[in-house]
Amino acid sequence: MTKKIAVLPGDGIGTEIVAEAVKVLDALRRAFGLNIEMEHALVGGAAYDIHGHPLPEQTLTLAKQADAVLLGAVGGHKWESLDIAVRPEKGLLGLRSGLGLFSNLRPAILYPQLADASTLKPEVVAGLDIMIVRELTGDIYFGQPRGIRVLENGERQGFNTMVYSESEIERIGRSAFEIAMRRDKRVCSVDKANVLECTELWREVMTRIARDYPEVTLSHMYVDNAAMQLVRAPKQFDVMVTGNMFGDILSDCAAMLTGSIGMLPSASLDASGKGMYEPIHGSAPDIAGQGIANPIATILSVAMMLRYTLNEPELAARIEAAVNKVLDQGLRTGDIYTSGMRKVGTAEMGDAIVAALV
Ligand code: NAD
Repeated sequence: MTKKIAVLPGDGIGTEIVAEAVKVLDALRRAFGLNIEMEHALVGGAAYDIHGHPLPEQTLTLAKQADAVLLGAVGGHKWESLDIAVRPEKGLLGLRSGLGLFSNLRPAILYPQLADASTLKPEVVAGLDIMIVRELTGDIYFGQPRGIRVLENGERQGFNTMVYSESEIERIGRSAFEIAMRRDKRVCSVDKANVLECTELWREVMTRIARDYPEVTLSHMYVDNAAMQLVRAPKQFDVMVTGNMFGDILSDCAAMLTGSIGMLPSASLDASGKGMYEPIHGSAPDIAGQGIANPIATILSVAMMLRYTLNEPELAARIEAAVNKVLDQGLRTGDIYTSGMRKVGTAEMGDAIVAALV
């Protein structure tokens, strides 16, 4: 049966990098009979400019009907002064909650060819392979009440609410344990249980779930220590599972261990395995329109789509092998360039990966 992919390029470099990922999907369709159809729609600032909303009804409907969503990135200076309710980032949050995408998988893998691109010593990061599982639809980002109020003394006060129900913790916990079963069978749950009751419950639920996965070793770590350990000795981790806010910060930190956020894909899954796939970076307004953005994170997001939603693990591995091959050939976009390599633009990198697929 034909699988439908909603393609949402978004803003800034989003359109440039998604075009390369679409080339890869087209090549797989032509050369290996991948049975898909793609339909494009607007999201983020681009959607606001035309429809007055970062997530127009027709985009959400398309995303809901599709088997998988391929997203570029949203946001940019142009829309920064808009009311928070219609800022481009709201389009992204709306997609995540509208599609029930609660499990965000963010691999941080260091390609051996890029060990020098990391700011850490090669021996600390070489061979790094971490999977950060971040809860995506709860926590302080969505908790009520929230806002800015005026106190009796006239001073303004900002407030947000960190909140997790047992069922929310349980489903992300199970997602992490299932992934660990396919990896090195180690889960590190990150919380701040010494200070926050919300994460005290988190720790309790994780401990309970672990009984159903006797082969998996569960450890707990406070988030401040986890941030330190990620930089000190990142290879100690296999799967890290954490809430929305801690995961937001730790996954960017893990990303930087690998040298460039232009290399890292992500998947956000619902309970049935439907997913939205996107690079972890943003719309990079500083380099947008120049044709120099690294498309690899987006192309590797397609590989994750093939593995987790389209059930085509061999094609996923083929994309990953093609990326390895072009890195071996010495091709580098500016963000991962080191002297002696061949500097290429977005389209040239995409074309090289397509050529390496077959
Ligand atoms: P960013 O990730 O867009 O950029 C950070 C730095 O990394 C920039 O110097 C950029 O040039 C570089 N970079 C990012 N992706 C790259 C790539 N593929 N190739 C080469 N270099 C790359 O983060 P930012 O600058 O903090 O945010 C810019 C905009 O993106 C903001 O509006 C922000 O809200 C938005 N944003 C969107 C998402 C998303 O859509 N998922 C995520 C983060 C930020």
